Amino acid sequence: MTATEPGKARMTRMAPDDPHATGLRLADPTLLRDRCLIGGAWTGVPRLSVRDPASGVAIGAVPDLGAVEAQAAVEAARSAFPAWSGLTAETRAAVLRRWQQAISTHKADLAQILTREQGKPLAEALAEVEYAASFVGFYAEEGRRLYGETIPAPRADARILVLRQPVGVAAAITPWNFPAAMVTRKVAPAMAVGCAVVLKPAPETPLTALALAALAERAGVPPGVFNVVTGDAGAIGRVLTEHPAVRTVSFTGSTEVGKLLMRQAASTVKKLALELGGNAPFIVFDDADLEAAADGCLESKFRNAGQTCVCANRIYVHEPVYAPFLARLLARTAALKVGRGLEPGVQIGPLISEAAVAKVERHIADAVAKGAQVRLGGGRHALGGRFFSPTVLSDMTADMAISREETFGPVAAVYRVRDEADALAQANATPYGLAAYVYARDLGRVVRMAEGLETGMVGVNAAKLGADVAPFGGVKQSGLGREGSRHGLEEFTELKYVLLGGLAS
Ligand code: NAP
Repeated sequence: MTATEPGKARMTRMAPDDPHATGLRLADPTLLRDRCLIGGAWTGVPRLSVRDPASGVAIGAVPDLGAVEAQAAVEAARSAFPAWSGLTAETRAAVLRRWQQAISTHKADLAQILTREQGKPLAEALAEVEYAASFVGFYAEEGRRLYGETIPAPRADARILVLRQPVGVAAAITPWNFPAAMVTRKVAPAMAVGCAVVLKPAPETPLTALALAALAERAGVPPGVFNVVTGDAGAIGRVLTEHPAVRTVSFTGSTEVGKLLMRQAASTVKKLALELGGNAPFIVFDDADLEAAADGCLESKFRNAGQTCVCANRIYVHEPVYAPFLARLLARTAALKVGRGLEPGVQIGPLISEAAVAKVERHIADAVAKGAQVRLGGGRHALGGRFFSPTVLSDMTADMAISREETFGPVAAVYRVRDEADALAQANATPYGLAAYVYARDLGRVVRMAEGLETGMVGVNAAKLGADVAPFGGVKQSGLGREGSRHGLEEFTELKYVLLGGLAS
């Protein structure tokens, strides 16, 4: 998507008479930034308003920067790289640990900013901030374990060393659905190994990213090591993908934009890490614990109002347990509380944009036209605006749009499957391959499914995959590379083979 498409309509220029009342109650109001961070200077004129998706009210504004500022950020990062990468890993780790501590100390403020700009319930926002902090802590330590290798050489007077070195300047481009965790999952490993970073956050949720940058600055991250640029995605993206000083681009977002960035990055043969869209199958077999399966399905499907890349999009239920599973899912879904994220007990917030609501409506209408039954919800919520009723559709079939595209909304689409082979064939019939879920008890069945599913991640009797210690990522058109775990460091490093010769005495 570009900044000019309908989905981005909430990112508008602030009217001169905009009262700019944030309505935020922060313990530390200085975390609310309206400038970008380039080379250690907070810069730019706040022109792009950031709106609460629950109310449409502007809660802040950020600069509308472009290619010139993106180049300045890349140059700042290039200048900062030698000194930062020249520090010991322990010194960088100490800075990252202070950043982690600062995030934890300010988690209530960060969660409030996050909920106001993104819409998710405050409890989910708090959990996301803690998840975001966990990456900083994990990579503070993991950066100290950036091991190389020695390899027996083919000659007695030689030795082979393999060094693992930081790539240099790293670019990070992040989406709006996890405004804190997607930032730290990229920036923390990059900084831990010695890279300097230029981040372009999503226009819907730049305030969380800027607050994180403010805390990084306080923690002692030197000027130029962490730069944040908001504004024209096309222009900034072009600089980040084509500037020769940028050596790796780490992107999380849609497959469509990922492909565009891949084409652009080809011009300078950059490393690329792409965390793209999904269309996760959630498979329930007749030997599953149906209560656990329904709980897991609810969590996977409706977290963040269904706006997660790993959320269950196609729910395949074995015929013998189709009716009892559907009954359990319906009962749980009917009990979900919809409302503004800051209200106590709310489980489903608004969708991010009017375009997101329209896509959900289109998917439901398409399914119904092709024979699906609306068992619950099916339309906009009585609260109006971007609130959508949690929806359950049954009698889904492979010819429907939901079978092919990620819905990114609170719609549980339930299909029947005859047996394992049918489940595997339907689950794999997609160009995406991010996450899949299997609920079953038979060990052989579990292993056959886990091995046969064409995805980067499989949850077995488990619905929440994200963890700092685990490799997160997809196959097929869901992306390249992994984030989190020790593998997450690889995207920001290169191997260098050093042959030491002439060692004979
Ligand atoms: P998006 O439209 O692809 O945008 C993601 C980011 O890319 C935004 O910052 C966007 O900025 C930027 N962007 C768009 N066009 C660009 C260009 N030409 N050059 C540089 N940057 C550009 O995706 P989204 O709607 O924000 O996020 C939802 C998608 O992310 C879903 O498909 C979801 O599955 C995926 N996702 C994947 C993961 C994962 O780990 N695999 C995690 C979370 C989300 P603008 O908005 O200003 O254009």
